[in-house]
Amino acid sequence: MIRVLVNGAAGKMGKAMSIGILNETDMEIAAAVDRNCVGADLGELCGLGHLGVAVEPDLAAAIRRSKPDVMLDFTVPAAVMENLRTAQAEGLAAVVGTTGLTKENLAELAGSCEKTGAPIFVASNFALGAVLLMRFAAEAARYLPEYEVLEIHNEKKADAPSGTSLVTLEGMEAQRQADSVGAANTKETVPGCRGGAYAGSRVHSMRLPGVVAIQEVLFGAPGQILSLRHESTSRESFFPGVALALRKIGRLQGLVQGLDQLL
Ligand code: NAD
Repeated sequence: MIRVLVNGAAGKMGKAMSIGILNETDMEIAAAVDRNCVGADLGELCGLGHLGVAVEPDLAAAIRRSKPDVMLDFTVPAAVMENLRTAQAEGLAAVVGTTGLTKENLAELAGSCEKTGAPIFVASNFALGAVLLMRFAAEAARYLPEYEVLEIHNEKKADAPSGTSLVTLEGMEAQRQADSVGAANTKETVPGCRGGAYAGSRVHSMRLPGVVAIQEVLFGAPGQILSLRHESTSRESFFPGVALALRKIGRLQGLVQGLDQLL
């Protein structure tokens, strides 16, 4: 049995991943941590009836009491580093879906993992289709150097652009053979309308209710357009990737990034 501490358990992803874990036979929920809904029963929050796992607010105390094998973190960008420092201090492995980790954060975590021996797995997107989109987009960028990324998420998402769009753009830039000539001189009559500049391209973020996660990469060339699009229609799309990481984390070493590393 893989004993999972779910951090951010009362959030949208925390609940969806808890339901997924409860449906598996080789994993169980050791503890549920969140700063909201403290004292509520996780099963009831998930609409599954009483489970006997109460949401608790103190991560370090929950780790010491429940002795999990791994922390699954789907909290908020502002909290994830502190959560990981706590898990590392307790020698606890972590699977992280929370976005917003900077390059400096990742460097700190890599150093910390080496010292503690507790591995951390981070993926900006746990949906297999999104990982394949990143792979296909990097391949296409070798031949089609003019492209931009559109990402659409729900209006409550705390950060923009999405972590996935940044990783996608980095992967494409690494493969692009020619520089983009782009449209850098376009005068913006509405500030920001050309999106954010990143990795030699542009990323456009839209936030709308009803959306889970959509990413589209558009490539333009004389006389043709190639569009690669992935859409997560429900949070179920993330669970197979999360389950894979929970099963493999015990055999990983150090900081490992990206679901493609586990496929
Ligand atoms: P949400 O706002 O619904 O849930 C976040 C939860 O974290 C809330 O319940 C909040 O109370 C809790 N929280 C905040 N600070 C905390 C702290 N210090 N300790 C414990 N809990 C805390 O958000 P969500 O839609 O569930 O998304 C969570 C994160 O996962 C976001 O960063 C989002 O971008 C990311 N995400 C990643 C993937 C992926 O595949 N990697 C997929 C979807 C969402």
